Amino acid sequence: MKSKTTNAIIDIVDDLFAKMSKSFLGFDPKSKTLDGGGRNLISIFMTGLNTTSPTSEEKDILKTSLRITEAYIDGLKSRTQTRILDKINSEVESYSSRSEQLSLNKIREIMGKEFSLAGNNFKIAINSEANKIRNLSTAMKIEKLSTAKGIKDPYVFWVVTLDEKTADKPEKTLHLIPGTTTPRVWRLSEIKHEFWKKGMEQTSIYGGHPHCRCVLTYMAPGWGFDAKGKVKYRGRGHDEYSFQKKQYKLG
Ligand SMILES: [Zn+2]
Repeated sequence: MKSKTTNAIIDIVDDLFAKMSKSFLGFDPKSKTLDGGGRNLISIFMTGLNTTSPTSEEKDILKTSLRITEAYIDGLKSRTQTRILDKINSEVESYSSRSEQLSLNKIREIMGKEFSLAGNNFKIAINSEANKIRNLSTAMKIEKLSTAKGIKDPYVFWVVTLDEKTADKPEKTLHLIPGTTTPRVWRLSEIKHEFWKKGMEQTSIYGGHPHCRCVLTYMAPGWGFDAKGKVKYRGRGHDEYSFQKKQYKLG
């Protein structure tokens, strides 16, 4: 394959990924400028924190998360470029051995397939990153609000989407009380800031697994759950955390 063709393909993939990054990260990796509008990782983070002017500590957390996502996208981009070049190259070789020319349509078909594959992987990565950043910023907001109210270590729980994709572990065993649809209440300090692994007895701020959709939520004093696991006011002085420990014999 001619190097001109190789460069053209690399450029096309570069442009495609720059556009995807800009819309999903809220950040243009080429110009290094922020994109304020739209639903992107930056706006999800700001919404979760409920602020338009994050502190420098909050900005650092956001930047780290954007950097990790950017690195993932970069890797995905290189893999996509390599796959397209490999496929077109082997087509070129097989055509030239038959002394025919590779048609533009064939090239388009190869690129189309690879682009849709890359787009799907991109979406999966971005959705999980969006959920992670939403939970992270929610945890920070809960901490801020409860400090203001004089609550030292607030209670939180996970809202779990139950369907065929819901994992047994940790969703049904840690996010929920095993065998029920009632969310388990945790102290915010018990939520780990590392990826959840098999054997971990606490939940992770990063969720349960790559496609986790669980949402971290604050539980105010006096509140608990009804028999179906819906949030319900249980009365002044009610302590759902201690109640669950006794009721369900949790460790
Ligand atoms: Zn989950």
